[in-house]
Amino acid sequence: MISFTLCCDNGHEFDGWFRNGAAFDEQVAASALSCPACGSEKVEKALMAPGIPAKSNKKTGTPPGVYAGAPDPKVKELIEQVRKLRQHVEDTAEYVGDKFPEEARKIHYEETEKRGIFGEASVEEARELLEEGVEVLPVPTLPEDHN
Ligand SMILES: [Zn+2]
Repeated sequence: MISFTLCCDNGHEFDGWFRNGAAFDEQVAASALSCPACGSEKVEKALMAPGIPAKSNKKTGTPPGVYAGAPDPKVKELIEQVRKLRQHVEDTAEYVGDKFPEEARKIHYEETEKRGIFGEASVEEARELLEEGVEVLPVPTLPEDHN
């Protein structure tokens, strides 16, 4: 028996056990496989990066997206909200730059005055903070902010 991680056309992942690779192909060809979550028969082997277990793949999350295309009023509105969010953070919080992880920990462990701060942290640093129970929120950056 071999096991494959399978994926339906709705993006559900599940494991399937087969006698061998050919048995999998036969069952797909006969539409004998269906997704346990939604019943879709459009099932295929999930793409996996070599050497990385499927489960830990999920932790990397969705890569940041970029948007282009026709001007959409809704997108403009949301960008305006992001801008307001950044403005609010900048108005009310103290900028600590790359000392952010250090300062966030001090505040969390009550070693310093409790206040809002913002600054720079890498994805790994932010994840470490979250794992320690320190609440951090990503503040989106707009391309124009780099001007
Ligand atoms: Zn499904």
